[in-house]
Amino acid sequence: MRIDRSRCVVAHFCLFYAPTVFIPGDGGKPVVSSEYAKDGSVEEGVVPDELYEQVREAERHCPSRAIKVYRE
Ligand code: SF4
Repeated sequence: MRIDRSRCVVAHFCLFYAPTVFIPGDGGKPVVSSEYAKDGSVEEGVVPDELYEQVREAERHCPSRAIKVYRE
């Protein structure tokens, strides 16, 4: 899963739908929490299967389509 923070409009739906995965970063824009961050990235992460639906919900509700969820 990846967040394009340049597209983010800080609507915070992602924090609501996947609160353990997305946390507020600088300027309020979300980052991927360090627990799920991929290679220390704030924009890219890997989540376990049980969180897949949560990040999909965040993707569906993100008004700026800044979140992309994909399977590796
Ligand atoms: S839901 Fe989308 S626009 Fe809103 S804070 Fe999250 S990434 Fe940004």
